Amino acid sequence: MTPKKEVYLVIGGSGFVGRHIVEHLLARGDIVSVFDIVQRHHDVDFCSGDITDESRLLEVFTKTGTTCIIHTASPPHGAKDPSIYYKVNVDGCKAVISAAQAAGVQKLVYTSSAGVVFDGGDVVNLDERAPFPEKSFDAYNDSKAQGEKLILEANGKGGLLTVALRPAGIFGEGDRQMMVGLYQAYQRGQTHFQVGDNNNLFDYTYVGNLARAHLIAADKLSSPPLANSSQETLTTDSLKAA
Ligand code: NAD
Repeated sequence: MTPKKEVYLVIGGSGFVGRHIVEHLLARGDIVSVFDIVQRHHDVDFCSGDITDESRLLEVFTKTGTTCIIHTASPPHGAKDPSIYYKVNVDGCKAVISAAQAAGVQKLVYTSSAGVVFDGGDVVNLDERAPFPEKSFDAYNDSKAQGEKLILEANGKGGLLTVALRPAGIFGEGDRQMMVGLYQAYQRGQTHFQVGDNNNLFDYTYVGNLARAHLIAADKLSSPPLANSSQETLTTDSLKAA
């Protein structure tokens, strides 16, 4: 018997990362729709909505027959009012989980952030097993950590399998944050200073590789959760091996 084809919904699919995920899905012939508050592309089924609106999410999951959600939505870093982060990244994740379970969605892949383990100090050789810091660096990172926790705790509950990915800096076609910020610093003439002793390291990921990692994570979610475990850690090494 031919296995049922996955039906993907990319939440935040009008954004930088979401758009690349949509393109990767389309390139391999998958069925995909976008859920977002704004529409920026017109070559894919678009569902307008806010992730804090659980009834709208349920309506869209049901109407599209979604089997796999890839949730990339978040307000951008740097908002003046931090409450928007908790509303979208924490309450929004709760609504996505609850609507997904009610609609019988089987998989949920969440774009988290490396910032969830950043407290302002050096982060060296830390992997996915490290605990969250006692005090997050800022509201954005705190809300991403709380959102990630909710997503991972939902693994194996109500028929839903979940996984979270933690990119650091992301570059590539369509970036509206990283290069823009660097260019603005250049325009302000903020080029003649150095942070650290010239040995500082920072992780950057090409957006196309990150999009591929989301698809691999979704594909890997087909096995049942581990016994005695509410969360399965998909490590960087296991992604490399995929
Ligand atoms: P982006 O701003 O380009 O895209 C986010 C999308 O989410 C936008 O299209 C926006 O309209 C949508 N959105 C925001 N609030 C929404 C809501 N309430 N309901 C529905 N849609 C909503 O951001 P991005 O750079 O593509 O980031 C994607 C994800 O990656 C985010 O979760 C972010 O936290 C994470 N991340 C990004 C970076 C980076 O450097 N860009 C680094 C680490 C993690």
